[in-house]
Amino acid sequence: MILKPLMKSRYIHQLEALDRRVSEHHPQKTRIENKLKNKLTGFRGEQALTFPLNLLPEPDYAIIHNPRLEDSNGNCFEIDVLLLTKYYILLLESKNWYGTLLFDEDKQVIRIGDTGIEEGLPNPVPQVKLQRYRLKKWLSQYNLPQIPILYFVVISFPSTIIKPMYQHRPIPEEVIHSNLLYHHIQRLNNQYKTPVVDKKGMNSLGEFIVQKHTEPDINVLKKFGVEKSELIRGVFCPSCESGPMTLNLGIWHCSLCNHYSKNAHLAALADHKLLIGDKITNREARDFLMVKSPDKTKRLLTRGDYRFIGNRSRRTYIL
Ligand SMILES: [Zn+2]
Repeated sequence: MILKPLMKSRYIHQLEALDRRVSEHHPQKTRIENKLKNKLTGFRGEQALTFPLNLLPEPDYAIIHNPRLEDSNGNCFEIDVLLLTKYYILLLESKNWYGTLLFDEDKQVIRIGDTGIEEGLPNPVPQVKLQRYRLKKWLSQYNLPQIPILYFVVISFPSTIIKPMYQHRPIPEEVIHSNLLYHHIQRLNNQYKTPVVDKKGMNSLGEFIVQKHTEPDINVLKKFGVEKSELIRGVFCPSCESGPMTLNLGIWHCSLCNHYSKNAHLAALADHKLLIGDKITNREARDFLMVKSPDKTKRLLTRGDYRFIGNRSRRTYIL
């Protein structure tokens, strides 16, 4: 059963909003685009795991996607997939790498892409070993059952060639292709036959982990050195994605593709929430949505049924 499904993280949504609202000419544009591309690649790698995971019989497995847990010293660690059984916990670290991978045991990984260019990558094995160590400590911190923790590094593409860098140093056996994940889990099931927790214990441990999950609170403007004043303002057209749309009698209009929309401002307000914050005054909304009239803006915000604080003139809406 899936206790926490795979979803795009808030950080990816923030990067998408930032990419939309930072112009091509901004000095940070390439950095933003690269980070977004990198995060989306990781997300697709995790999507590739959902198929083999769906093959597992429901009641015997609790699946938690992207749990992010806090250490006793306040630092967080994140796991791509945590699979919980009565016998063991399995950590999956997915890598959406294509081409040929040369593994030097715990040390470097070299990827050779289509063009033959070599690229050094951080080895995911020590990374997932560290997560295992931190999870073990985390479980004991809360006096939770010490279930054996196992791990796999899962390469998304079955076509990716995995080779040892040196013949005498084999590839770690925990590095597998996603299409073999189901079989490797069956292999573990044959190996681990003594239950550490019962069904109820497994479910309550899973629910506890989900409950302790914390979403990162990232100020992306600060992180990427973008000023609020540098963001592209206005409402984007849901049809052709250009902007700004203009508001006439409560309806948004795109002069470029002649599209009309009643709710196009909602996406812009969602961008405001992701990039600037969830609080907005009438004046700030006017500025961000590029609407001149305070009354029209008030109608938009009232229509959104947002909670608000403060009295009439100094009202702040919570998006
Ligand atoms: Zn349009």
